[in-house]
Amino acid sequence: MLQSKLIYKIKKEFSKDEDSLNARLLVQGSYIKKEASGIYTFLPLGLKVLSNIENIIREEMNKIDASEILMPALIPKENLVKTGRWDTFDVLFKLKSQTNNEYGLGATHEEIVTPLISDFISSYKNLPIFVYQIQTKFRDEKRAKSGILRGREFRMKDLYSFSKNEDDLNVYYENALSAYKKIYERLNLSDITYLTYASGGTFSKYSHEFQTLSEVGEDDIYICDKCNVAINEEIIEEQKVCPICGASDFRKEKAIEVGNIFKLKTKFSEPFSVKYLDEKNKENLVYMGCYGIGSSRVMGTIVEVSHDDSGIIWPEEIAPFKYHIIPVGNDEEVLEEANKLYKTYLEKGDEVLFDDRDESTGTKLKDADLISATYRIVVSKKTIEQGKFELKKRSDKEIQLLSL
Ligand code: ATP
Ligand code: MG
Repeated sequence: MLQSKLIYKIKKEFSKDEDSLNARLLVQGSYIKKEASGIYTFLPLGLKVLSNIENIIREEMNKIDASEILMPALIPKENLVKTGRWDTFDVLFKLKSQTNNEYGLGATHEEIVTPLISDFISSYKNLPIFVYQIQTKFRDEKRAKSGILRGREFRMKDLYSFSKNEDDLNVYYENALSAYKKIYERLNLSDITYLTYASGGTFSKYSHEFQTLSEVGEDDIYICDKCNVAINEEIIEEQKVCPICGASDFRKEKAIEVGNIFKLKTKFSEPFSVKYLDEKNKENLVYMGCYGIGSSRVMGTIVEVSHDDSGIIWPEEIAPFKYHIIPVGNDEEVLEEANKLYKTYLEKGDEVLFDDRDESTGTKLKDADLISATYRIVVSKKTIEQGKFELKKRSDKEIQLLSL
């Protein structure tokens, strides 16, 4: 794409309106715009990155046989009354229509997905079923002060599994766990992301969170370095030893919860009476699991843990562009060679940005660091005299000279 067509406005200074680093860098680089506390617009650059993250998640969900759906954001009050959450869910936004119908704004979707999938289940032959969506969620968070780490409106992938019994649920739970590991690997977060044991509520011994180490994290986790797992603050009281090796020397760290998985068992199939007939024609309740990843929180987390003085350093798979081509000056030959490279990459199907603006080289290079394509390409009179161009990876210091 031509840079003159990209809708963005890089700011010289950090926004005073933001107290978190992720929001400051994202606003400065014109990825997002703040509309109100905890509410942001994703501008073209920000949407590209968010979509890249969500596509990684989508690919890994599809690999574990989950089907993508899209559920409504308006959840009828009666569904939420049925599970008791209309009155007990502290962050639920509630609204009333002109015709006096009441709705909860989707904060999570068990109350839609459970009756929805119930329609597809009659016998054991219909099970298991796995569905997910990637959607905007709404939560009336008291404190929305960490930029896109904690929004009142934010993006989430939520997957729900429906199985015949606890054993089948456990098998899928392990598959989902592996898929999550793969996702954090592709997002370049796996070195600092810990599988964390958390309380499972009344239904299960544990649930699991994925926690990424960061000083700005709201959670405290206790890491067992021998097993490379962690325990959440809330269960460390009861669970005093590592659930894997039984040791009790932990390293305490601050972390951001970037995902969590939970065995719901029959918590929701019971109120909605989701049952199937087994091989002996006996009626049984379906066993459910739910699996969430906050894709916009993941984006904010990456900004917090991956930046330098010049701006954000995106992992390769999610950068807004693979190549950013910058011709230096207005020399005809330089422009011609730069354009040739641009066409070559476009034809290869790479995401490539071409700086066609009438700006100083200094400004172009500074903006390039903030836009943070994986590779910056500089074409100048000096380089083409040697039949070359400059290639620099955003995450590296060295510049390479490559043949045109
Ligand atoms: P937290 O304890 O941080 O409020 P949660 O336990 O309420 O999170 P879930 O309801 O399990 O989170 O949601 C699944 C995922 O959605 C979380 O792991 C997190 O990545 C993300 N998430 C939750 N709340 C927010 C929010 N307000 N803004 C952005 N992402 C969020
Ligand atoms: Mg919460």
